[in-house]
Amino acid sequence: MLPRTHTFLGIIFSLVIAYSFNLSLIAGIIIFLSSVLIDVDHYLYYVYKKKDWSLKRAYNFFIVGKNKIASLSRKQRNEFYHGFSFLHGIETLVILFILGKFLSEYFYYILIGFSFHLFLDIIHQKTIHDRFDKYSIIYDYFKYKKLGVLEEMKGYLA
Ligand SMILES: [Zn+2]
Repeated sequence: MLPRTHTFLGIIFSLVIAYSFNLSLIAGIIIFLSSVLIDVDHYLYYVYKKKDWSLKRAYNFFIVGKNKIASLSRKQRNEFYHGFSFLHGIETLVILFILGKFLSEYFYYILIGFSFHLFLDIIHQKTIHDRFDKYSIIYDYFKYKKLGVLEEMKGYLA
């Protein structure tokens, strides 16, 4: 899902949650930022893979990849993945819950933002392929080993 879609829906979601539960402004802002910035793991994946810190090139890399995926048949899409997301999964939510319980309630707000983002990503991926990704980091890690990385598919990415 595109960052601008996450941003738009994140604004609405954080406003509704902050208003409904009478949360502070800072809580609302943390929920919103978390619902968008969890995707930093895509950027770090790019940095790791390409040894390049350019945010602009990273963005273009994923946009090109997204378009390439869209051009594949659904069967082909099922055989490839488009990068590992180490924050996208239940494990991160569990850690945030523990941090919220023992360190600071602010982690609960991050948990809410991340959960909303994952919810959107999981719904969105049904439109792309038949797999069920991004609900467990550990499961994805082992599952992805059996799949091909899209960027390594010859002729697909420049
Ligand atoms: Zn995401």
